[in-house]
Amino acid sequence: MNKQNNTDLNHSNFIREIVKEGIKTNKWKGRICTRFPPEPNGFLHIGHAKSICLNFGLAIEFGGTCNLRFDDTNPLKEENVYVKSIIEDVKWLGFSWADKIRYTSEYFDQLYDWAICLIKKEVAYVDDLDADEIRKYRGTLTEAGQNSPFRNRSMEENLDLFKRMKNGEFLDGAKVLRAKIDMTSGNLNMRDPVIYRILRAKHHRTGDTWCIYPMYDFAHGQSDSIEKITHSICTLEFKDHRPLYDWIIEKLNIYHPQQIEFARLNLGFTLLSKRKLLKLVNEKHVSGWDDPRMPTISGMRRRGYTPEAIRDFCERIGVAKANSTVEMALLEHCLREDLNKRATRVMAVLRPLKLTITNYPEGQIEELYAENNPEDPQSGTRMVPFSRELYIEQEDFMEDPPKKFFRLAPGKEVRLKHAYIVKCEEVIKDRNGAITELKCTYDPDSKTGGPTAGRKIKGTLHWVSVKQARKAEVRIYNHLFIDENPANEQEWVDGKFALNAESMEILQDCKIEPALASAKPGAQFQFLRMGYFCADLKDFTPDSPVFNRAVTLRDTWAKITKQNK
Ligand code: ATP
Ligand code: MG
Repeated sequence: MNKQNNTDLNHSNFIREIVKEGIKTNKWKGRICTRFPPEPNGFLHIGHAKSICLNFGLAIEFGGTCNLRFDDTNPLKEENVYVKSIIEDVKWLGFSWADKIRYTSEYFDQLYDWAICLIKKEVAYVDDLDADEIRKYRGTLTEAGQNSPFRNRSMEENLDLFKRMKNGEFLDGAKVLRAKIDMTSGNLNMRDPVIYRILRAKHHRTGDTWCIYPMYDFAHGQSDSIEKITHSICTLEFKDHRPLYDWIIEKLNIYHPQQIEFARLNLGFTLLSKRKLLKLVNEKHVSGWDDPRMPTISGMRRRGYTPEAIRDFCERIGVAKANSTVEMALLEHCLREDLNKRATRVMAVLRPLKLTITNYPEGQIEELYAENNPEDPQSGTRMVPFSRELYIEQEDFMEDPPKKFFRLAPGKEVRLKHAYIVKCEEVIKDRNGAITELKCTYDPDSKTGGPTAGRKIKGTLHWVSVKQARKAEVRIYNHLFIDENPANEQEWVDGKFALNAESMEILQDCKIEPALASAKPGAQFQFLRMGYFCADLKDFTPDSPVFNRAVTLRDTWAKITKQNK
């Protein structure tokens, strides 16, 4: 797999060109209709977001419509909770579908009739071979398959058996319906694919009505056809299924959408497969589908991602015909760009160290002006309390600093953001030699607008006033996997995927400015100098505020692209 060249993201989208061409030749008689067809067997991930942005995006761009259709043909794996979460995620991403939500299961009667139609045309037959035998008869890429001994049943017998399959006369797996195409085809999908199977399982919508279910390939194309989809866009794995898609539609002589394949999104340090993500959830490697480390839409929402950032990312990666892996740094870059515009700047100290200003009047509290967002003049200011006792970040002090350390050190001065210049006079330690407090003096004239405010001081630190500070829990996230390329299929099957033991760090004694305790769950902030954070959607309460780090401030993507220019 190629790594996508960092500088060469040109938002290209060959599908857009196909759509334009179709409009020019009036191929679709003025209509554009796409669809997003998730199987409700898990939560959506960032790969699905690419497909959503593509399908809904094309419909918006060309004045068409996009359907949301649940591809629910496998009752063993599908559930209503997934349906609900998918609806919520598509809406949250900012898209709306044409009129109603659709379900492939609503077409079961029609699909059954179409199966009958194929039997009558003598291009489908009931087979008694079991799954293993069918596999053996299928042959391989280098070896032709063999006809099943049941392939030449009469049309009447096939009709009778298929109806009896539907009526529940046979055990699960005892018989299947297969399309009669060509057991010697170079394309394995065309070697008499199974199109209906017997399965007694409660369906999330049709309950026990059916004991036979159509296979994906016998449902998908016809569903597209029923809905008069113009462009049926899917990922590259389905390229080899396209001849079957076309074959079924031609045999049934029904409306024929155009299938177009594009490269799925792969993202570094991440797995994009519901099946694999489900395993992480089931085996409790994460707290759930919405764990902020998960690449799911719900996990990303909880982490602090915005729909705008995700849509921007999907636009920037473009749509290509060859698989590649996109760097996580680009996704993070898109989030930073968006939050930079909208996130309120606040002060929070993650690892507190006490700082006492010995010449500041005891008991005095000053309310200082702080701007909410220098990028957004509309965002205004707020007041932040300042007093004699403050917290600063432990890492902002060094007793014996190297030359270019522009933060606090014995005898050195720094500016406190929105406040005064302070000088470190004394370092207090406990019995074990650990630093417990800094004694400083301040320059009372150095406040913004004061006579010495313009003094040249290299470092500016964030801080929180001890008395008014609120305690908060802050969760710091890193990649879930150690490897940029987490696991190939075999390693995955063997359970050989290496999770990053440091994917989450919980800091329980953080100090935040008081106003932050009344944040709305889901609200995003920039903690000055520390990164972008989001009030946790599930666990945040005013009494025990919890924040997630969405992304750091350091932009590795911008750096890489600059170097390459
Ligand atoms: P998964 O392997 O994660 O279950 P899937 O393709 O089986 O993915 P579906 O629910 O069938 O999941 O997918 C719905 C739509 O999303 C399909 O059209 C599929 O092509 C698209 N899609 C899924 N994963 C990606 C991805 N990584 N990149 C782009 N599109 C994707
Ligand atoms: Mg699928």
